[in-house]
Amino acid sequence: MLILNNMEKLCTQCLYIGHEEAHFYGNFTTESILWGMAFFFALAGAFETFLWIPATIIFFLALLYSIGSYTFKACVCSKCHKDSMIPVNSEKAQQIIIEHGLIAPDVTSKQDQRTIVGIAFRSIFLILTTILVIFMLYKHFE
Ligand SMILES: [Zn+2]
Repeated sequence: MLILNNMEKLCTQCLYIGHEEAHFYGNFTTESILWGMAFFFALAGAFETFLWIPATIIFFLALLYSIGSYTFKACVCSKCHKDSMIPVNSEKAQQIIIEHGLIAPDVTSKQDQRTIVGIAFRSIFLILTTILVIFMLYKHFE
């Protein structure tokens, strides 16, 4: 049974076969709060253009935080949390699988629903805030 999903990986540390876990270095709550604040200030700034300075600063802070946490992303084994996963279809992985007589578990691709909702929610905030900031700056500098 060596026919496996291409997306699956083998952990050379604990011999776990499955999907990697993506760890974002950024804190999800911090990011949500930053975007919430950025959105609030941008919305207020769209009406009261004197708020353009704090609104722009918070917008860039949130943006930098998001970029930072997406850039410094680590993929680790979802069982032992070590950065030691290799693709199952690689030669080394196949060797380990044969050596240890491993059978790949039936891992149906299950995505963390909460993360998907969170990312979608954040994207909406990001887009709305960006539009508001552009509108606010345009209004202020026109
Ligand atoms: Zn592992």
